[in-house]
Amino acid sequence: MNLPQTLGELRKSIFSEEWLRTRRVKDELRENLIARLRGGEALFPGIVGYEDTVVPQVVNAILSRHNFILLGLRGQAKSRMLRALTALLDPQMPCIAGCEIHDNPYAPICRRCRELVQERGEETPIAWLPPETRYVEKLATPDVTIADLIGDIDPIKAAKGGHELGSELTVHYGLLPRANRGIFAINELPDLAGKIQVGLFNIMQEGDVQIKGYPVRLPLDVALVFSANPEDYTARGKIITPLKDRIGSEIRTHYPATVDEAIAITAQEAWERRDGRPPHVPKYVREVVERIAFCAREDKRVDKRSGVSQRLPISCMENAMSNAEQRAIRTGERTVVPRIADIYAALPAITGKLELEYEGELKGADSVARDLIRSAIARTFDQYFANVNTQQIVQWFDLGGEIEMDNNAAATDLLAALAKIQGLNDKLGTLGVKAKDAPEVQVSAAEFVLEGLHAHKRIGRSEERVFSAGEKPARRPEPPVEREDFHNRRGRPLN
Ligand SMILES: [Zn+2]
Repeated sequence: MNLPQTLGELRKSIFSEEWLRTRRVKDELRENLIARLRGGEALFPGIVGYEDTVVPQVVNAILSRHNFILLGLRGQAKSRMLRALTALLDPQMPCIAGCEIHDNPYAPICRRCRELVQERGEETPIAWLPPETRYVEKLATPDVTIADLIGDIDPIKAAKGGHELGSELTVHYGLLPRANRGIFAINELPDLAGKIQVGLFNIMQEGDVQIKGYPVRLPLDVALVFSANPEDYTARGKIITPLKDRIGSEIRTHYPATVDEAIAITAQEAWERRDGRPPHVPKYVREVVERIAFCAREDKRVDKRSGVSQRLPISCMENAMSNAEQRAIRTGERTVVPRIADIYAALPAITGKLELEYEGELKGADSVARDLIRSAIARTFDQYFANVNTQQIVQWFDLGGEIEMDNNAAATDLLAALAKIQGLNDKLGTLGVKAKDAPEVQVSAAEFVLEGLHAHKRIGRSEERVFSAGEKPARRPEPPVEREDFHNRRGRPLN
């Protein structure tokens, strides 16, 4: 399509004055959303687990033409949700060429453009904006100023142009005016100083703002969206009341409710296709990685207010895969299959993502992370082996059997050693692993069984990764059956 290049051409096109003049950005979002809903299209492709909770509420907010805020802990895809809103903007939007605030050709608000239209009339040049240029994002911090957000009076501009200070021609625009006729997202809204919140409110409410004491009129057209940590947002005094009143909808986000959803997110986000090949990651490895985050979110040593980001399992998976890759490169193996030991090796990808409470700090991040991995293994093991008799394997160790599962050892070497453990090979079928599978696959599965027994303290394991009899092999404790998929389902009840 040849897009009109002047105001005159624009007027005669489908982007007529009648169509565009009063079409504000929230109308545009609403219309495009309705078209997608009618077409049955996915609204937020790539966002997993919000279909029945967050998405319907965001849809309502947009249909209501609200400014809205997403409230949630870190790593709940809040920024991603907000960025995805650009998909609801028109593929091309006309504005007056060269305008810093993307003026509507039929109703320019800046003086430069008003003068330009007077001067050039139908010859006024038109520029076109794709959706991604109409999304402006700012991470709020206490040092954000009015100048950053709204603008500043530029004395040099005034002197050069012979304008008065406070004239619109002397304003150096901040981020919000530059988001005019688009979406402006502020992340961590409560971190914005009270004074700046007032400025933001004035713009939203009146279209007026004072810059260095000069009143500047800016009737902007912006869809404002925000994100915040729920506790910060609801804390008294963090958000000025008039601003809170102007935020139409508060929408709670949440972590994945089930391990399967979490796996889907990580598989999508983690860099897994190394050298273009699809990875061979056993399901139980994926489950353990996700359950580390699930366990951490329940652990009292981990700070509940900041949460445990979904980035933890994503980085952990990447690092575990790299450890498996490293082993394959060193041993010359062709199939890269992560083992449980590779998850322990991914500790550097885990510790930094845990905000610890005092009790956790005392224990140290490494130690807490190791505990979490072990709990995640125990729970995952139970999913497969709760009703499987593994006594024969434990007995082999109780009778003095020992095996070193060196994480750098080639699978073929380990496989021969593992074959000596009576009863072990029979149990791999529970994991869907057969004798004809690649040695890398079999070793990973066998190691998971041993790690599972170790996580339940039924067999022992040394720092050097030698598995042996447990310290107290007397009685088998009843493994806890996992309930997490059950009571982790959060989200705001509808009634
Ligand atoms: Zn303009």
